[in-house]
Amino acid sequence: MENKYVYSFSEGKKEMKSLLGGKGANLAEMTNIGLPVPSGFTITTAACIRYYDEGKVLWKELLNEIHGQLKELEKRVGKSFSDENNPLLVSVRSGAVFSMPGMMDTILNLGLNDISVKGLANSTGNERFAYDSYRRFIQMFADVAMGIPKVRFDSLLEDMKENKKITEDTDLSAEDLKILVKKYKEIYLNELNEEFPEDPMKQLELSIKAVFESWNNPRAKVYRKLHNIADNLGTAVNVQSMVFGNMGDTSGTGVAFTRNPATGENHLFGEYLINAQGEDVVAGIRTPEEISHLKDIMPNVYDEFVNITHILEKHYKDMQDIEFTIENGKLYILQTRNGKRTAQAGIKVAVDLVHEGLISKEEAIMRMEPNQLNQLLHPTFEEKTLKESVVVAKGLAASPGAASGKIYFHADDVVKAKERGERAILVRQETSPEDIEGMVAAEGILTARGGMTSHAAVVARGMGKCCVAGCSEIRVNEDMRTMRTKNLIFNEGEFLSLDGSTGTVYKGDIEKIQPTLSGSFGEFMKWVDEIRTMGVRTNADNPKDAAQALEFGAEGIGLCRTEHMFFEESRITSVRKMILATSLEERKSALAELLPVQRQDFYELYEVMGEKPVTVRLLDPPLHEFLPNKDEDIKELAEAMSVSFNDLKDRVEELAEFNPMLGHRGCRLAVTYPEIYRMQVRAIMEAAIDIKEKGYNDIYPEIMIPLIGHVNELKYVKNEIIEEINLVFEERNNIVKYMIGTMLEVPRAAITADEIASEAEFFSFGTNDLTQMGFGFSRDDAGKFLNEYIEKGIFEKDPFQAIDIDGVGKLMEIAIEYGRKANSKLKLGICGEHGGEPSSVEFCHKLGLNYVSCSPFRIPIARLAAAQAQINSPR
Ligand code: PEP
Ligand code: MG
Repeated sequence: MENKYVYSFSEGKKEMKSLLGGKGANLAEMTNIGLPVPSGFTITTAACIRYYDEGKVLWKELLNEIHGQLKELEKRVGKSFSDENNPLLVSVRSGAVFSMPGMMDTILNLGLNDISVKGLANSTGNERFAYDSYRRFIQMFADVAMGIPKVRFDSLLEDMKENKKITEDTDLSAEDLKILVKKYKEIYLNELNEEFPEDPMKQLELSIKAVFESWNNPRAKVYRKLHNIADNLGTAVNVQSMVFGNMGDTSGTGVAFTRNPATGENHLFGEYLINAQGEDVVAGIRTPEEISHLKDIMPNVYDEFVNITHILEKHYKDMQDIEFTIENGKLYILQTRNGKRTAQAGIKVAVDLVHEGLISKEEAIMRMEPNQLNQLLHPTFEEKTLKESVVVAKGLAASPGAASGKIYFHADDVVKAKERGERAILVRQETSPEDIEGMVAAEGILTARGGMTSHAAVVARGMGKCCVAGCSEIRVNEDMRTMRTKNLIFNEGEFLSLDGSTGTVYKGDIEKIQPTLSGSFGEFMKWVDEIRTMGVRTNADNPKDAAQALEFGAEGIGLCRTEHMFFEESRITSVRKMILATSLEERKSALAELLPVQRQDFYELYEVMGEKPVTVRLLDPPLHEFLPNKDEDIKELAEAMSVSFNDLKDRVEELAEFNPMLGHRGCRLAVTYPEIYRMQVRAIMEAAIDIKEKGYNDIYPEIMIPLIGHVNELKYVKNEIIEEINLVFEERNNIVKYMIGTMLEVPRAAITADEIASEAEFFSFGTNDLTQMGFGFSRDDAGKFLNEYIEKGIFEKDPFQAIDIDGVGKLMEIAIEYGRKANSKLKLGICGEHGGEPSSVEFCHKLGLNYVSCSPFRIPIARLAAAQAQINSPR
């Protein structure tokens, strides 16, 4: 019915949410399943949209419809407007499609005037109550519909209490309230130059207009922007006959959740107040009673309510958040909606609902937002405390969790602080591999530069450690050991708190809540694994992270970045000797020092992973990253290597690059120094044979070559490493099966993927570099300007976080199509940071990848996202 703009509650249903708003649709639904809902009707969101189109007037046909519905309402409830004995009073409330709690306007007790106030006094036998309601209504109407500030009225009330030497509103008599009503009307007249409208229809029209207009009040606009709600949806208006919870000791009002919204436990959770209206519960003036006590004072009402909560849960198949009022011993339900809940409660409720036969496993899986699992795996700050805390700056939410501690600006200071038993936060301009030990010792990491795939972000996520990166609002002076924002300075040793889930930096030492994993979590994740068809591996380069990832359900290692193994204190000197060698002999001798430690690394990793696949990426970063840059460190190294300081310094400068991300790195290193990769594959194979000979497992190494852009690079490197592998097999008189594949991270590789696939057994998409090179954005510097791209709507999301499906995604599609054409057995995975981001995981599922690989703490998120992708688009 195109021209129908007003629906009685009995005409609507829950599926009409976009027209009736969430509240209106649920009131209609509850009415139709026979629950005690006060009668009323809903003016649609379409009416709100037309109201704006018509230049903010209520057109004639709409007013006629409203009149018609009012007549019906009067008939249904047996009351009428302006009745001297039993008057109809209504509430007028907003109700948008998406809940916007408290953002728009509400008017209660509409219909009160000089006649109906008597009627209310007569019907309730309570004159004081009637006049109190009347003066509240005048104030609310004047404020909400006509814009007269509330304080004008409040000050009169306070004056009267002072004159009468009383402190409580409730001590005012009916006569006092009558005087107040008169005075309130005088204010109204003085402010607006017109009388307070006695005609309820006029009151209603003005109130409906006010609610429509509250759709565009500043706080509603801000809320919509924050929650991505479109501005053109409009709000519905619900007009509902009033029931009173403040009519004495057999009346009351309350709010209850059908289950505990913090833990998910299946028991009624809520509170109520006797002789009160809804605002009293919200305003917190009186302390409400726990819902179970209602049983003692009104057992019948309590039983009826409990019964209704069961009906509503069964009907909506979800935990409900219900508002109710008791008027003279009769229960009314004013609202129900799906209750907001913590992640822990979300899992428990979903699992319990499956056991109770109300929803399927698939529905349970679809109800959890994958990123919500972060709440279960990392500590968080209590929301209440955050509201009271001072925000210092905002950066990128690089690695979730919460951390608080004293700030230090150098990795070794963090290590020392930890040894003293302090909690420390590492603050740096940006981190580099040298900072690793400080990062391990820190509670959290804050950097001023760098994006979502910067060193700090990637390493922190790997460790499951809280990190705020690219926080360009702070200036870090590492030498002076200070950081400053526009108007604050922080020195070493002061407390800061980081929220890595929102990217917010707070002043002071905020207390954390540790996560708890309920038994339901394991069961839920088991269902997730039954459903998903794409594998989930981890990015890990040490036994500890690998073990953590296995605990979170990883099915293998998709990326072992071998450079992380080079940084350990015990081996960095050998690595540096290898880099600085001036002859092949020297380099070979340094590599010989590294071989046994690398072999041991792989051995330990294989031990943890058992027969699960392990993809090892050969050395990738530019060599200068391993070299010292401070003079004192160069001096120390010169001594260890018995060379002169000046010679060494020259060599270090020679190796420095302007844009190392596009420089001498990845397979390019192996073209120059094939012996490095030879040492690495030797270590991989010897470790695998060691394990095999001990009779443990058959290891099936996957060797991955980074940054291939041309098939000839791959051919050259492959040839070198296969030669070395064959040498190992001969020496050991044993063999293991292995695979050689490449990372796909250079656009040229994507568009020549057929040539590359003829030389590779697998592709693993390195989407960090593919995004960098696809856009031409430096990974390390894009953090500085990408925020503005998002704010100005140029990009919807940061492409280093969520795959840019139309561009970088297209390169992936092309690579897969060409690659599979040339090699039908080609295995496909992704190991860029996108492998743990839900929308990217869904895209990878659609592309048909065999697996995604991500940091250990994102494994559960990737598993859930993969299961949801399978439910949405089965493959
Ligand atoms: C990538 O480029 O996506 C990748 C996984 O490699 P890295 O981040 O180590 O360059
Ligand atoms: Mg890369």
